[in-house]
Amino acid sequence: MKKKLYFGSNLKMYKNVAQTIEYLGRLQELTADLDRDVFTTFIIPSYTSLDRASGLIDQNLILLGAQNMCWEEQGQFTGEISPLMLRELGLKIVELGHSERRHVFGETNEMMNLKVKAALSHDFIALLCIGETGEEKDFGVSDEVLRTQLIMGFRDVSPAYIPKIWVAYEPVWAIGVNGKPASSAYAQEKHHVIRETLKEIFGEEGASIPVLYGGSVNPGNANELIVQEDIDGLFVGRSAWDAENFNALIRDAIRTWRENEA
Ligand code: PEP
Repeated sequence: MKKKLYFGSNLKMYKNVAQTIEYLGRLQELTADLDRDVFTTFIIPSYTSLDRASGLIDQNLILLGAQNMCWEEQGQFTGEISPLMLRELGLKIVELGHSERRHVFGETNEMMNLKVKAALSHDFIALLCIGETGEEKDFGVSDEVLRTQLIMGFRDVSPAYIPKIWVAYEPVWAIGVNGKPASSAYAQEKHHVIRETLKEIFGEEGASIPVLYGGSVNPGNANELIVQEDIDGLFVGRSAWDAENFNALIRDAIRTWRENEA
């Protein structure tokens, strides 16, 4: 049985500062009554909104994160953001390896490993995103790809960091405007592979790492996804970018999960 559920969104390169602040304020207000011992909510806005967002948002209610981070603290890394700069803003989460980082900007599993270790050593929650492309799925190598991304991403990471590790399974073919959501059965199957691999990497305790599903989550599929045994949460893009809609999706999913657990 799941102890906790996770609902979050990455705002990608959408929403300016004013729009982000308005969205976060409204989401905080709408979701204020949710029991945070059981449900974790988090939002990952653009870098330019983070300073104001962290001043406005109560991170006991909504955790804030950054969409990426350099593994070095300082130096000749034009265009990159240091862990120290993100710490200065009081952020809790760093998202690493979103499919757009891997496939549009060429980030590798080796880079993920450096970033995961840097995020953890700077006391962030490291949210590592993994997922196979449509081509890899068609070749029947999805499990191998997921296993590789996990084994390389978490190489030399001590099990002591388990409480600060989250994983998001986001099949590349399921994400974004051209994405086709994974069926709940397919998502469950892959989440199980991920769970087993995390146990291989970290020992039995690895099973406690939250594994979230992302990729065209919407009000029509959120409920059947959240009741799957190995799905601990939903990482939502487009369907979360309106605070009212995201609040409704979260509440509906929680109700369904509770009914299912009863
Ligand atoms: C994403 O890009 O991580 C994502 C889950 O997007 P969407 O829900 O819009 O497919």
